[in-house]
Amino acid sequence: MKELINYCELPHGHNPKPLLDINAYLQAENLNGIELMLYKNDALPCNSLDKILGIHLKYWPFWMDFWNNNTEALKMQFACQQDLISYFGNATSTEAWLAYIKDHIRAALALNPEYLVWHVANADYQEAFTLNFRYSDAEVLACTTELFNSIAEIIPATTLVLFENLWWPGLRLTNKEQVDSFLAQINHPHTGIMLDLGHLLNTNCELQNEVEAYAYALSVLEQLGETCKQIKGVHLSCSLSGYYVKSFEKKFPNNTPIFKHITQIDQHRPCQNSELKKIINLIQPQYLVHELYYNDFQELSSLLKIQRNAFK
Ligand SMILES: [Zn+2]
Repeated sequence: MKELINYCELPHGHNPKPLLDINAYLQAENLNGIELMLYKNDALPCNSLDKILGIHLKYWPFWMDFWNNNTEALKMQFACQQDLISYFGNATSTEAWLAYIKDHIRAALALNPEYLVWHVANADYQEAFTLNFRYSDAEVLACTTELFNSIAEIIPATTLVLFENLWWPGLRLTNKEQVDSFLAQINHPHTGIMLDLGHLLNTNCELQNEVEAYAYALSVLEQLGETCKQIKGVHLSCSLSGYYVKSFEKKFPNNTPIFKHITQIDQHRPCQNSELKKIINLIQPQYLVHELYYNDFQELSSLLKIQRNAFK
């Protein structure tokens, strides 16, 4: 099992300040590498290219209306047409968007990662607050298959593609048949699932503590049966946000900024309870990524210590 940290080069929000020597940090913390969040389509100011084992591809929280040419629904999301166009990488058509995604993947592949991560979900600004979703899991999975298969040819057969679960409509992992049929339709020989533990916990608002949370996660994994073997990576963090999800006002516009809203639902806190071991033992992932919110690497070191104690 390779142990990684998530890393992103952009200085906003919870992203860490650029680190002068990632290699020295990884060595000091006894980590194997990083999973890089790649936002842009050009090369990176990173001095540790050989330590980039995984790349989390850019994602669009909502894209189904664009893919399905539902212009009326899209207009509701943006103040003006230019905002819409820049959201989709300056693409004005699905063909242009596919070209943008291909460029992005080429930029990722140039860094020679062992695996790529692809988010499978769709929720627009309204839906994120009203929780009144217009698309089902099955619809998001079907469109993700179409979208991915449209660009799959540019990914080498040896590059592992890991599809990540979220708690919005899409890949939630709570329905084995849907997961199996989704993976079966993907045109790439080397695929699997990136289990984001916190995202999985976000699918159940009744969870009060970590013991309940990991018991729930185990029950979902048991229902997946043999499909669990498809989980080749884990984004490790804890999220217990049922209280918040039950309490916020389900209306739009809502005064809470979207970024704050999402981070209150998806908390990325360190796991602390050793019941976590049962999950790691069951999955035995090839890649374990500590996916924590941190402002600097000193903070990350103390969070890592807490989380490692929970599964070692
Ligand atoms: Zn994740």
